Amino acid sequence: MLLLHACCAPCSAAILEWLHANCVPVTLFFFNPNIAPPEEYERRKGELKRYAHALGIDFIDGDYDHERWLDAVRGLENQPERGSRCLECFKLRLRTTAQLADTHGFTQIATTLASSRWKSLEQIAAAGQWAVEPFPNVRFWAKNWRKDGLSERRRILLQENNFYNQTYCGCEFSQNL
Ligand code: SF4
Repeated sequence: MLLLHACCAPCSAAILEWLHANCVPVTLFFFNPNIAPPEEYERRKGELKRYAHALGIDFIDGDYDHERWLDAVRGLENQPERGSRCLECFKLRLRTTAQLADTHGFTQIATTLASSRWKSLEQIAAAGQWAVEPFPNVRFWAKNWRKDGLSERRRILLQENNFYNQTYCGCEFSQNL
């Protein structure tokens, strides 16, 4: 059973399509306390929630505790994207995903973060492996979601569904990059 950490609709659609085509049952977990301001958070969440509902996919709504996220990246505010702030950001989101997976009997986790070409696959894989370390029954699936034509499908599904497509990664420190 797969618990898929999901950051937004544009990054999730092609992955959900691929999972469906490959008969992989999935539950979505929206846990992204990095997103600022709150209006942006609600907009991204609402878009994905609507899409999941239309597809009949279970959607778990994580807490939005931006202060906790700010604590986790304190001192790294000026780091560039793909720098050490992003690694801490991934670790927080994926550890919480692994924790939830363990509690609810999911045997593996993955993340839609890995579909974005702006992010470091190495950082995501490292954060994912770190996240599952305390949970021997949960495995991190480090699939490269940019291969198998998924990047092209991402672009097509974004247009077809007219998704809201954000112009920055998520946190306030990425807004002017
Ligand atoms: S730029 Fe994106 S990945 Fe990096 S810390 Fe901000 S929200 Fe997280």
